[in-house]
Amino acid sequence: MSKVFCNKPFNHNYIHPNGKYRLCCTTIQDLPTDNNYNLFDASKHSLQDYWNSNRMKEVRRKMIAGEKIRDCERCYEQEEQGIRSLRDTQGMDEFIAITKPDGFLKRPATDMQLQLGNICNLKCKMCSQMYSHMHGMETKQIGEQDPDWLHWVKKQGANVNNWTNELGVREEWYKDKELKMKMYEHISANIEKLTIIGGEPTLIPEFYEIFDYCDKNNTLQDKIVVIVTNLTNTNPKITKWLPKLKEWHIWASVDGLGERTEYIRYPSNWQKILASLEFYKKNIGTNGGITLSPAVQLLNIDQLDDIIKWWIDWCGGELNDQYNFTWLATVWYPLICNPNIAPREWRLKVADKLEKYKFDDVYDSIVHNLRKDYHSQDSYIELQKAFIKYNDKQDQFRNVTKTWRQLLPELEKAIKV
Ligand code: SF4
Repeated sequence: MSKVFCNKPFNHNYIHPNGKYRLCCTTIQDLPTDNNYNLFDASKHSLQDYWNSNRMKEVRRKMIAGEKIRDCERCYEQEEQGIRSLRDTQGMDEFIAITKPDGFLKRPATDMQLQLGNICNLKCKMCSQMYSHMHGMETKQIGEQDPDWLHWVKKQGANVNNWTNELGVREEWYKDKELKMKMYEHISANIEKLTIIGGEPTLIPEFYEIFDYCDKNNTLQDKIVVIVTNLTNTNPKITKWLPKLKEWHIWASVDGLGERTEYIRYPSNWQKILASLEFYKKNIGTNGGITLSPAVQLLNIDQLDDIIKWWIDWCGGELNDQYNFTWLATVWYPLICNPNIAPREWRLKVADKLEKYKFDDVYDSIVHNLRKDYHSQDSYIELQKAFIKYNDKQDQFRNVTKTWRQLLPELEKAIKV
């Protein structure tokens, strides 16, 4: 089996929250236009514009010839480390057969991940300007009060806040009327599996327009739709479309129980989250599904067992095709969100607690990794100092009902920097 071929450039459309086209969610390379200088941008270019661009044709030619491409470095690296990557070779022979020698592919993609901008009502701990304009706005406001802190955040980069673009800017690449109609047409006519992420998609009018367009064109029954939502908002409008879909799945971004998720996913409300879960449960029918997908991080790892137990209980005592759980992954960046930066003594105590519960291999490996030291002693001290400086400032600015120190007193005690 090929070590470089992947079906994504042959069958997948991906639009980043800032409107840049990429091969998929794993790569960090934006696709360049044919002048090899500008970048494709969904606010100016349609899906048809980039699909058979020079770069896309080159990627296909190289993959077919067995050559590595820079966009896919992350997958190659993961595979070298024995980790399963997102690279997918399914359908390889057929994709090769229908691709012209120059890489041109007449057939459009049937699979799509749509990141509908960065409009979001939350400012989650592990998030940044790219995925939440509110998060960016808050960082900017704190910086207006304390310019030294903002300067420090910027210098720290991926250690504390993965912010790359202008703070507070609303990424709304989908607003051009003509381009969005072209995108709806493409989704309606070609896409069989659509994953919609934000920002928070349920806050965005275009999210509903997609369903409406497909409904009017009678194509909902051909589609599997995955909606990634923070459950802070539900709109009854959607109940008209859900039963008509082939399948639908809610990926519930919930990162803790009660006040813990309210703290991490600030300013969410636990009762509202529970009510939203009930809303989808009520509408689940035979084609719906709800999957919990927590982002495992330093601020919730100590209750990972409790989160899973609560979820299984909420699902009626067992997981199945309709009520499921998925590992969104452990948060690696910003580094201060990664559980491994905590003091060893605290991590071992948490591992001992978690170990008493059995769930699956990923759970076991998360527990196992807590026992390993990934950083030098100096880096541990620096990262813990950064964790304190960043979170204390945010807590103070937000005037939270409970600070991280009050929510995780054992962690506070263990950090001795
Ligand atoms: S090999 Fe990996 S990075 Fe490249 S297109 Fe496939 S999933 Fe994306």
